[in-house]
Amino acid sequence: MTNGAVYLDHNATTPLRPEARRAVEAAFATTGNPSSAHRFGRAARRAVEDAREQLARLVGARPDAVVFTSGGTEANALALAGAGRRRVLVSAIEHPSVLAAAPGATRIPVDGDGTVDLAAFENALAADPEPALVSIMLANNETGAIQPVAKAAEIARRFGALVHCDAVQAAGKIAIDVRALGAHLVSLSGHKFGGPMGTGALIVDDAVSLAALIGGGGQERGRRAGTENVPGIAGLGAAAEAAWAGLDAFARLADWRDALESRALAAAPSARVVGRGAARLPNTSCLALPGMAAETQVMALDLAGVAVGAGAACSSGKTKASPVLAAMGLDADTAGSAIRASLGWTTGEGDIERFIEAWTALAARAQAAAA
Ligand code: PMP
Repeated sequence: MTNGAVYLDHNATTPLRPEARRAVEAAFATTGNPSSAHRFGRAARRAVEDAREQLARLVGARPDAVVFTSGGTEANALALAGAGRRRVLVSAIEHPSVLAAAPGATRIPVDGDGTVDLAAFENALAADPEPALVSIMLANNETGAIQPVAKAAEIARRFGALVHCDAVQAAGKIAIDVRALGAHLVSLSGHKFGGPMGTGALIVDDAVSLAALIGGGGQERGRRAGTENVPGIAGLGAAAEAAWAGLDAFARLADWRDALESRALAAAPSARVVGRGAARLPNTSCLALPGMAAETQVMALDLAGVAVGAGAACSSGKTKASPVLAAMGLDADTAGSAIRASLGWTTGEGDIERFIEAWTALAARAQAAAA
């Protein structure tokens, strides 16, 4: 609950964790450029390197593989441009920041539950001998569908491809081990797991000689220049540690998510849970209520004090039909009526009750309108 209102839009952004706030505040209270050799500089360097270890632990990476960025969008842009491959394959449900970074990419289709089609993926790889870069997200932001990244990476490596995985929505929600994933490049974003907005990282495997997008002072071992955002990085590291410790609690959100879905369907028999057949994140529910536009639902729920997302909800209030849902084969009416309830580390059981109350009233309105 936030100001008496219920916040169920954690995939857009989740509240700053207290550990992260304290780390940011402590860093703001100190002076020192991590590149300076004196004691002030060395203290700032220590804060950055401690955070690098904390973040690496969250995803099973080596600390020196971590390149801090300004967030998930920059990490995706750096991976796609920096890998140096002209030929790029992406899943059809990638985040706009991936699609924009590889405009000419071949799109790999997904099935009706929003999971990438591995046979089509292998055929696309086999169609051209030029070594490719492939980009497949670990979990989709709209449906929560978890993608078979380890299997895709195994196929991709057989074809000499490099593998990028946008793990922005998965980090802190499910356990991640970048080695088991088999990805060469992995994108992370702080504000999705309780760190500050505008922080993130790209995990870069040794096998990749990454070209920097931003050159200059040689920070991040030449992979991303610019004086480090020390307070942001300190907050990111503290959030990573707290999220890592909270993974079991996060997994238990699946019980509330499942209860939310079965009660929502009971209240509105014409509704459907999009992607229900896929392995999903424990916190994400994409609910379509055909006949009522998603934006109408979002506004009505907001008036009732419940905040949820619609469509690609983190992209600045945009409410056009979601390309992700279109790629899953949903008709325009169903796709345009889909909202996303996403739970998080501050969610309580009472929040689910409030959602169901508001949704039941909404469903009654939709039914009356259809009658
Ligand atoms: N990838 C995915 C899957 C996302 O959901 C988001 C955030 N909406 C991003 C990348 C972009 O991350 P950031 O907001 O840190 O730029």
